[in-house]
Amino acid sequence: MNERGGMGKVSEVRSEAAGTKASRSVVILGATGSIGQSTAAIIAGAGGAFTVEAVAGGRDPIALAKVARELGASFAALADPAGYKDLKEALSGTSIEVAAGPQSVVEAALHPSDMVVGAIAGTAGVEPTFAALSAGRTVALANKECLVCAGPAFMHQAAVQGTRLLPVDSEHNAIFQAMNDAGLDSIERITLTASGGPFRTWTSEAIAKATPEQALNHPNWSMGPKITVDSAGLMNKGLEVIEAHYLFGIEAARLDVLVHPQSVVHGLVHFTDGSVTAGMAAPDMKVPIAHCLSYPERLTTAARRLDLAAVGTLTFERPDFDRFPALRVALDALRTGQGLPTILNAANEIAVEAFLGKRISFHDIARLVEQACDRALADGIARDPASVTEALEMDRLIRERTRAALAENSLAQGSLATMH
Ligand code: NAD
Ligand code: MG
Repeated sequence: MNERGGMGKVSEVRSEAAGTKASRSVVILGATGSIGQSTAAIIAGAGGAFTVEAVAGGRDPIALAKVARELGASFAALADPAGYKDLKEALSGTSIEVAAGPQSVVEAALHPSDMVVGAIAGTAGVEPTFAALSAGRTVALANKECLVCAGPAFMHQAAVQGTRLLPVDSEHNAIFQAMNDAGLDSIERITLTASGGPFRTWTSEAIAKATPEQALNHPNWSMGPKITVDSAGLMNKGLEVIEAHYLFGIEAARLDVLVHPQSVVHGLVHFTDGSVTAGMAAPDMKVPIAHCLSYPERLTTAARRLDLAAVGTLTFERPDFDRFPALRVALDALRTGQGLPTILNAANEIAVEAFLGKRISFHDIARLVEQACDRALADGIARDPASVTEALEMDRLIRERTRAALAENSLAQGSLATMH
């Protein structure tokens, strides 16, 4: 950890040759997703400031081929090997090299570049993003699960390599900007805001019965399905507090959460002299993505502008841990340590998948995750992973155990009986 809050030193990515600025070369991991597409839109509108070396996606060869063509990438990698033929066909007649399978995503991450945008959803992003970091790339990180699953290993690697992990997540990006390079000893605490999601005003009983369609209906943000479900239960805010803990090197006791339905103030930095700086912007992910892409310079973008007079009123409330137990479970995991963030992250992915598949109720997500943490502690398997390899081993083990718990229909309060 260092004075800049544990995020590694500034690496000058933009090179200047013969007085003219070279374009910054970028790899986009998760190029077909919500963040990936916003990244592609910024790059396409930036008039040659960026060149895209490689793009990677999960399972959709047609969407990946489209973004690879549009951005003129040299290499397109699809995680799903079954999509190879379609990807190859869709890019025939171009000079874009194609590959498929999980290793090809790592290959894309390692393609020579100035910056890698980590925008894969979930733990699938850990290995390729870590590979990029280990190769000394500056990483613009949206994929918060990397830090929740293996935060110490990521931060250690960034420090060893002297590279920066730039936060794309809007709250962390706002906080990073509001910190303005202040040392942690001048910061009293850091606040992350949460929109409160679609269930902010719902009763506990109503939330328990929420359907995937209702959970996917976020009031302020349009995002991929996993993060949208995480947001609805405030698990996303729990993951983000864990992300902030590792990213800024600040202890859990100095991190807090405020519900702010307008999503205008994304983060607050409270200094020891009573001063507070706020990171504000319209709720548009293009703002933090553009900030990371051109850091430390500023791009001119078409991202939404903030009109405070039109917003009128900004409101803030404390989170309700009774109606949103996932936030409590995540904060407890961070405070307890012993690898519980890794365990929570793994169990949560399985639980969200089961909820989206209509196999469990909304409240079962937090119950299943808490049960995974409690059982791991009781069975003596909970421990801090010493490396990414250990974190991924723990991740696999917890996924198996969580799937088994689902199959056994064995949640403590018989809550899986509420499955529909
Ligand atoms: P998404 O579901 O829209 O997109 C995920 C992307 O990852 C897709 O391109 C998918 O093809 C790809 N992918 C999945 N598995 C893969 C694999 N094994 N290898 C390579 N690519 C794979 O998700 P999103 O909303 O764009 O979120 C991406 C990440 O950014 C998540 O970690 C999320 O928490 C974070 N984030 C998103 C937002 C947002 O507004 N969408 C905001 C903050 C943080
Ligand atoms: Mg966020």
